[in-house]
Amino acid sequence: MADFDAIVVGSGCAGPVAAYELAKAGRSVLVVERGTFCGAKNVSGGRLYTHALRAVFPDFKQSAPLERRITRERVSMLAPDAATTLDVTDELLGTDRYESYSVLRARFDPWLAGQAEAAGAEFINGIAVEALLKRDGRVTGVRAGEDEITADVVLLCDGVNSLLVPQAVGAEPLKPSQVAVGIKEVIELPEQVISDRSLCAEGEGMAWLFVGDATQGRAGGGFVYTNTDSISIGLVATVSDLFESRAPIYQLLEDFKRHPSVAPIIAGGKVVEHSGHLVAEAGYDAMPPLVGDGVLLAGESALMCLSAGYTVRGMDFAIAAGQQAGRSAAAALAAGDTSAAGLAGYRKALEESFVLQDLKTVRRFPHFMETTPRLYNEYPKVARDAMRALFLVDGTPLRPVRKAMLPTLRRVGYLNLAKDLSKGVRAL
Ligand SMILES: Cc1cc2nc3c(=O)[nH]c(=O)nc-3n(C[C@H](O)[C@H](O)[C@H](O)COP(=O)(O)OP(=O)(O)OC[C@H]3O[C@@H](n4cnc5c(N)ncnc54)[C@H](O)[C@@H]3O)c2cc1C
Repeated sequence: MADFDAIVVGSGCAGPVAAYELAKAGRSVLVVERGTFCGAKNVSGGRLYTHALRAVFPDFKQSAPLERRITRERVSMLAPDAATTLDVTDELLGTDRYESYSVLRARFDPWLAGQAEAAGAEFINGIAVEALLKRDGRVTGVRAGEDEITADVVLLCDGVNSLLVPQAVGAEPLKPSQVAVGIKEVIELPEQVISDRSLCAEGEGMAWLFVGDATQGRAGGGFVYTNTDSISIGLVATVSDLFESRAPIYQLLEDFKRHPSVAPIIAGGKVVEHSGHLVAEAGYDAMPPLVGDGVLLAGESALMCLSAGYTVRGMDFAIAAGQQAGRSAAAALAAGDTSAAGLAGYRKALEESFVLQDLKTVRRFPHFMETTPRLYNEYPKVARDAMRALFLVDGTPLRPVRKAMLPTLRRVGYLNLAKDLSKGVRAL
């Protein structure tokens, strides 16, 4: 007989939710997390769309450590000396259906793990699972430190770049073009100063994404999220592109923080946290099989993440996948069949949910971003030059915008512009 009905590897977003579902179904479940506490090793820019969390914990707002409700969206095209910004406010952003909150993982993850623990899941922290136990090709447990622990089903919720996924389902390791590196700082500032600088009411906040000079013309982008009394600021840059960059990513972040359109929002703040983490960019087409005999994959271990310049979303995918993984594992345990066939309902459930549908809808976007360098190095300058033609006045006679823009558009090439536009629209 196995030591546990189920073992969950990793306690980020997917793991605790899967464990909660299994414990709620009356199953014995062990969560193994390598961090000394849940959330110790985890990084997000920090914006959580709450629809998936609400589906698991309808009363989450009573106790979850949420920072600010995001009611202002900004997207900036950053040239070295200018920013062209789309600034969106919309009453719908603050409604239950569409709402999102900034969160800090070092606070949010322990809360999420606490929900699973309260439902009866057991946790071991501070030990990494080094290998999967297998018998006749079937996963039968994990090896963690000196211990071998067995279970009828193992749920891999161990995040991006999992060392266990290749052992479980034989997936290829990620290529440098399929993964980005993200770095982030949390900068403390008084609550009212943050509200004033981001033009947000009390308790409300801003999500601000940047493309262009944030990564100095390379694939990726920058982000700023306002928390209650701090600001999360960082960059995400594709690893293969970073190889060719002259500057290391920490230097890119320093330059980004000094950019004239960014510096005022963090001025006078104190850096209280640094972190770095990989982000899956490969998307739907590179996803590994989601089940094998005795094993399921949920969250970024299965590349369930959308990193697309105007947004980074992985937490709501991981929470929803964790919920379905936990439920499917519990159903398979009840039926006495945790083989790949017995667990096949998991993929079907995700196909019917936003998880696989959204990832499929934007499946071409990572390729579009990777193969359109003009997005990062030319178009922010095109936007800048168009704004200059509109807004710069020095008393010399005005030139019509279309004439003023001619040299810029010729430099980019009309055909390139048309091709990129059509490619971008198709990718979305
Ligand atoms: C810079 C950056 C910005 C981002 N911004 C956002 C954002 O604003 N909004 C959003 O929705 N998403 C964002 N994401 C993506 C989001 O953070 C992830 O998609 C999400 O955390 C995935 O959840 P997960 O549970 O699959 O994995 P994780 O949250 O990474 O959790 C995996 C857990 O497994 C543990 N683990 C790993 N290997 C082992 C092992 N062998 N043994 C034991 N434990 C192990 C880890 O310590 C970790 O706790 C961002 C990511 C980065 C890096």
